[in-house]
Amino acid sequence: MTYEELLADIASKNYRESRTLDTPYAALNAVVELHKPLDMISSSMCSECTSDEETVSYPCETIKAIEQELA
Ligand SMILES: [Zn+2]
Repeated sequence: MTYEELLADIASKNYRESRTLDTPYAALNAVVELHKPLDMISSSMCSECTSDEETVSYPCETIKAIEQELA
């Protein structure tokens, strides 16, 4: 599935109505479990967003976006 196809599915009325309320929470849980904090000496970094080239603090932008929408 491409990125565009996934966005279209999420926005689709037919797709939404064929799922239960548990479905979006299961999807959110899968994303949150990927973006878990790895504790360092003085802070935490996101295990998913951090790479050899870049250290990304936890909470990363993905977690912040989820927190913002759930607030
Ligand atoms: Zn992350």
